[in-house]
Amino acid sequence: MARFPVNPPPDPAHYVLGNAHIPPALCDLEPGRDGWCLGDIEVRQGQIKTVAEAGRHAFGELPMVDAGQGILLSALVDCHTHLDKAHVAAYADFPPGDLAQAIAAMAENLASWTPENLYARAEFSLKSAYAYGVRALRSHVGIGPAMPDFVWPVMQEMVQEWRGRIDLQLSPLTDILSFDDAELARMIHATSAGQGRVGMFLFNQPDMAIRLRRVLAHADAQGWDIDLHVDEGLSPELDGLHTVANVVLELGIKGRILCGHCVALNSYEDPRRNAVIARAREAGLNFVALPSTNLYLQGRSNSGIIGSRGMAPVELLSKAGANVSLGADNVRDGFCAFGDFDPLAVLHLGAQIGHLHEPARDWPQMITTNPAQTMGLEWEGMIRPGAPADLVLMAARCSTEMSLSPAPERQVIRAGKWLNIAPPSVRDLM
Ligand SMILES: [Zn+2]
Repeated sequence: MARFPVNPPPDPAHYVLGNAHIPPALCDLEPGRDGWCLGDIEVRQGQIKTVAEAGRHAFGELPMVDAGQGILLSALVDCHTHLDKAHVAAYADFPPGDLAQAIAAMAENLASWTPENLYARAEFSLKSAYAYGVRALRSHVGIGPAMPDFVWPVMQEMVQEWRGRIDLQLSPLTDILSFDDAELARMIHATSAGQGRVGMFLFNQPDMAIRLRRVLAHADAQGWDIDLHVDEGLSPELDGLHTVANVVLELGIKGRILCGHCVALNSYEDPRRNAVIARAREAGLNFVALPSTNLYLQGRSNSGIIGSRGMAPVELLSKAGANVSLGADNVRDGFCAFGDFDPLAVLHLGAQIGHLHEPARDWPQMITTNPAQTMGLEWEGMIRPGAPADLVLMAARCSTEMSLSPAPERQVIRAGKWLNIAPPSVRDLM
């Protein structure tokens, strides 16, 4: 492995990181002719003190680290993962199958979970994410009678242990049908209240609008964020997103609502798709597309024929003005055998599946500022004076270099300090 081409500052407490290419969506500088903002960033006591056009600000005797036009991002954010399930494939084989088969296989796998292996898997995942430059991450956590009762407490322990390194949000996840069961609804309430958010899986269940009204009205009354798995399939029969938008508007809900997947949008005729997107925008819904899991599960059969694939139409949603993020979703579990909690790898894959318009310079907000806003983080991820110096400096200097590798070289900077850590070895789990 080549040595990272930029040396760390002599004193991490106060220095200038100069000559860095910042995507225009992540700072307030004027872009140059190449579309990038070329900036000098003064870092002082863990914070960004100054952001100036390169060479335009006199920093006196301050040591300058020359980024050599390396791309500078704010630290990475992922608003849709499943840490409770991640890496179970380290301990079990999963037959490849479609969404329904994956759900069944994972349900069966629950019997092998222990507090120790759950802790080890979640810790491995967080160590990886941290080494890749992640500062905040939301994980769904399954709840319900089938879930071992240690799962929620172990995940809460992870929140505490990682405070200060990764801002970990938990979103209790269950099938929307569960909310009709009084006993279960109490459990959902208890876990959701602890985190201030609730997650539901929506996939063509009967009486969707009636069920959603109950859940969303309850969540809204409690002031919870709402995080939904919506229409994770290619059938045009799936109408969950439209139903969510209608119920949100009908109830006048103003809170933060995130809709993950929304794959079925691709299967609609144009007028219907446009109408649903317009309605979703009116309702203020946020979106997250999950490229890896969608690529793995959508259109899968055991025939050997490569069927149609799908992912939320990221480009269309963004053009309509929606806040769109990309997430890792399932990593090395029954739903997806691949992944590693590296948002830059997710972006690399998502850009190809989603046919995102080049240049790559215009994409990083989907793994920085957009998910930060969706999660309601204190810092939205703009590289501005007063922001934390939590940054990711890439060796890549331009869009084509950024697209070269699924795991691009980078230096993670947290509170101004250059971290010297690598993701854990794959052998650490077993
Ligand atoms: Zn998911």
